[in-house]
Amino acid sequence: MEFDTIAAISTPMGEGAIAIVRLSGPQAFEIADVLFKGVSGKKVKEVPTHTIHYGNIIDPGTGQVAEEVMVSVMKGPKTFTKEDVVEINCHGGLVSVNRVLQLLLNHGARLAEPGEFTKRAFLNGRIDLSQAEAVMDLIRAKTDRAMNVALGQMEGRLSKLIRGLRQEILEILAHVEVNIDYPEYDDVEEMTHQMLLEKSAIVKKEIEKLLRTSQQGKILREGLSTVIVGRPNVGKSSLLNSLVHENKAIVTDIPGTTRDVIEEYVNVRGVPLRLLDTAGIRETEDIVERIGVEKSRQVLKEADLLLLVLNYSDELSVEDENLFKAVEGMDVIVIVNKTDLPAKVDMDKVRTLAGNHKLVTTSLLAEQGVDELEEAIASLFFSGSIEAGDMTYVSNTRHIALLNQALNTINEAIQGVEMGTPIDIVQIDLTRTWELLGEIIGDSVHESLIDQLFSQFCLGK
Ligand code: GDP
Ligand code: ZN
Repeated sequence: MEFDTIAAISTPMGEGAIAIVRLSGPQAFEIADVLFKGVSGKKVKEVPTHTIHYGNIIDPGTGQVAEEVMVSVMKGPKTFTKEDVVEINCHGGLVSVNRVLQLLLNHGARLAEPGEFTKRAFLNGRIDLSQAEAVMDLIRAKTDRAMNVALGQMEGRLSKLIRGLRQEILEILAHVEVNIDYPEYDDVEEMTHQMLLEKSAIVKKEIEKLLRTSQQGKILREGLSTVIVGRPNVGKSSLLNSLVHENKAIVTDIPGTTRDVIEEYVNVRGVPLRLLDTAGIRETEDIVERIGVEKSRQVLKEADLLLLVLNYSDELSVEDENLFKAVEGMDVIVIVNKTDLPAKVDMDKVRTLAGNHKLVTTSLLAEQGVDELEEAIASLFFSGSIEAGDMTYVSNTRHIALLNQALNTINEAIQGVEMGTPIDIVQIDLTRTWELLGEIIGDSVHESLIDQLFSQFCLGK
C-alpha cells in the first residue's frame, strides 16, 4: 500500500508549554530536511534512527528562523505507524506549533484526519482493530481503572484471547473437514461429534465469560449514569456538590494522547459516575409528583444508579414512598441525610422500604457518612475487590454485539451436533463463529467500517 505523508498536532495533555507536531509517511524525512536546520549540521536523513536533535525551523520563504525546536527522528518500521516518523517539539506553545504545522503542510505534508495515525498503524499491521479501538478508549478514559482496561486491550490482551478462540475453532473445522472427506468411516464420525461438542463447549464458555465482563467494562468506559432523586430540601444539591468536590474526574497524562473533551465526571474509587442530566437537571425533585409513578419509572430507568435521598429530620411522606415504588428493581442506594438533626424519620420503616437496597446515613453538613456512601457505590459495581488490571474486560459496544452473535452461532453448532444435523451444516455455523470473532480484531472487516471507526478519533492520533 502506498501512503502520502501526514502531519498533525499531537500534544500530550499536561505538558504545558511543549507542543508536538507529528509527521508520518514516506516523505517525512525529506520534508523535515526542507525546514529543519540542526545545530550539528546533519540532515534528518543522515542521523541514526530514534535520536533527538536540537535546532531551528527555518521558513524557506523568508530564510528566517520560525521556531526553536527539538526533533525526534524515528525510522520505520519500529514506529507507531511503521512508517518514518518525525516529531517536532515546539517550546512556544500553540501559536508556534501551528506555525510549524503550516510550514509542513506548505511543503508536501497533508493534514492528518482524526485517527489517521492509528489507522495507519492498523493498516500497516502494527496493531489490530481492537487495539486501535483501545487507543480511542484510552483517550477518553475517565478513571485509572478505565485506563487500565484500555491499556490491557491496547497491549493486545483481548486480541490474544480472541486469537486463541479462533484457533480452537480452526482445529474443530479441520476435524470436520476430515469427516466430510472420509464419510465412510463410522468411528471418525463418532470421534468428530465427541470432539466437536467438547471443543465448542470450551469456546462457548469463554465467550460467555467475556460477555459477563461487559457490564462492568461498559461502566468503566462510559461511566455509570447516576441520578439523585428525593423530595425538595433533603440535600440532593449538597450531595452532588460533595461528590463533585471530593472526586474530581482525573486527567492523567499519557504520552501521545490528547483529551479534547473534559466532561463532568466524578471518580468514586475507580467507578466513573456520569451525573445524568435528566431534562436539564441532575437532581430530580418531585419527579413522581410531576409525572406520576409509571412515567418517572421510564425516565429513571435510563439511569444505571439511583441515589434516593431521604430526610432524617422529617417524617416519611407519601412522596417518599412513591419514590421507592418508582425505583423498584433498579440499582438504588438509599441515603438518609441530616443525621445531625433530631430524628423524626421512622428508621424501621425506611429499612423495610429499602429492602435489599443499600442504606447509608449521612450528614452532608457535618461531612459524615460520605465515605460509607462511596464504599457502597464501589462495592455495588466491583463486588469486592476485582482488580481491573488483571482482568480482560469487554467494554466496546461493537465487540459486545459481535460476541453475542458468535455465542448464537456456536450455540447453533452445538445444537446441530446434538440433533444430528448434517456435519456440513454445522460447519457453516462454526465458520461463521470464526468470522465473527475475527471482526473483533479486524480480520475481514469492511473498509467503510474501518473509516467510520477511525473517524471517531481525536485529531493528531
Ligand atoms: P435539595 O433541595 O434536595 O437539593 O437540598 P439542598 O442540598 O439544597 O439542601 C437543602 C438545605 O438543607 C440546605 O440549606 C442545606 O444546607 C441543608 N442540608 C443539606 N444537608 C444537610 C445535613 O446533613 N444537615 C443539615 N442540618 N442540613 C443539611
Ligand atoms: Zn437542589
